[in-house]
Amino acid sequence: MAQDRIARQCICCTSAELDRSPAVLMPFVAKRVFGHEPVQITEEWGLRDLQSGMAYTLCASLQCQRCGALFLDYRFSDAEMMSLYQGYRDERYNRERQRFEPGYAATVEHYEGRAGYIADVERWLEPRLPANPAVLDWGGDSGINTPLLGRSRLTHVYDISTVAPLPGVEAVDLETIKRHDYDLITCSQVLEHVPYPLALLAQIAESLHADTLLYLEVPHEALIRNNPGSKQLAGLKRHWHEHINFYTEQSLRELVSQAGLQVQEFMHLDVDLGWRNGTLLGLLAKRA
Ligand SMILES: [Zn+2]
Repeated sequence: MAQDRIARQCICCTSAELDRSPAVLMPFVAKRVFGHEPVQITEEWGLRDLQSGMAYTLCASLQCQRCGALFLDYRFSDAEMMSLYQGYRDERYNRERQRFEPGYAATVEHYEGRAGYIADVERWLEPRLPANPAVLDWGGDSGINTPLLGRSRLTHVYDISTVAPLPGVEAVDLETIKRHDYDLITCSQVLEHVPYPLALLAQIAESLHADTLLYLEVPHEALIRNNPGSKQLAGLKRHWHEHINFYTEQSLRELVSQAGLQVQEFMHLDVDLGWRNGTLLGLLAKRA
């Protein structure tokens, strides 16, 4: 699939039938990714054909008319992804974000420590897995939210961040992954951030052996949840932040099948995140 700068195809099912509507890229993301700052266009600019007013980084909301995936038109490069996520939630990151989003600092504490809902995910996963499984968490940071941590015979994490892994977790590279046969590979809360989810999934699929289960998890965003089946969401999505892809159940299923995998089970999980309620979409897949 083409890796266009501005998406011309659905990021899940590759359909070119996309509905489009104007939106803004939130200033914090625009600053980190493009170096843009919001600016007041005034008479002094001397631009004869432009009106004065506040200018923000413009973008578009696209919705696939086939599978319902709703996404930002910009697809960030590797270097832009690095600048967006460098030092994620460290002191400098939080300070910069607080400048654009007053009140952000107060929410940061909610992301510290292991998320409570992981126990619900584990309850769903455990009966479907062999005892004492070998687990790889793709994009799992330090392993802080890796399912079955402490109950698996091996926990590997593959992540572009350079955060130190927790005790009992081993950070691995792609070569090490190739040498292992995992019972479970998880990729949680990642696909909503990445520019080319299909390319990522195809890469993960290469690490799956015949019996390996892949667990994928994304947020079931409120706009999708509250408008089931709607293909008219582009005009309702007026801003984009770090979640650049909003998934429907159908779009996730398409993504999995495009990557040569087969969905085994699908779940909608209501979770109490401690400070707000949310819903997750989760699925288990295997090689087709
Ligand atoms: Zn689609």
